[in-house]
Order: sequence, then structure tokens, then C-alpha cells
Amino acid sequence: MSASDDTQNKMEPEVIIVENDVDEVSCDGGIPALGHPRVWYSFDKQDKVTCGYCGRIFVKRRSIADDGKSHAA
Ligand SMILES: [Zn+2]
Repeated sequence: MSASDDTQNKMEPEVIIVENDVDEVSCDGGIPALGHPRVWYSFDKQDKVTCGYCGRIFVKRRSIADDGKSHAA
């Protein structure tokens, strides 16, 4: 029995790829009317930052590239 039809109703976090030398990212939710106040996040030596407001995930490009091997076409 498969009950996976409801997954489309879930809010999936958006993933934003940023360049490797970026130290800070800003997020305002993307949509001015439905977003949130603009906030800045520092990567602080990590490769990934999650927005505490809207759940967007900011990931450095190198972190994606490292994982490229597992991409099966
Ligand atoms: Zn956000």
C-alpha cells in the first residue's frame, strides 16, 4: 500500500547554491508579500546554513560538487 500522494502538500525547503567564497547570505523569504524581514546568515566555517524563518537552505557550491559522484543519471 502506497501512501505517498500527500508528499506534495509538504513544504519542501528551497535549496540555494552559493559560491565558495561567499561568507554571508541574506534571505527575505523570496516573496516580499509573503516573506519575512531580511536577515543575514554567516556560514561561520560551515558549508550549509538554514534560514530560521522560512527554512531555506544555503549550500556552498563545493559541497554540492563533492557529492556529485553519487549523481546517477
Ligand atoms: Zn528565509
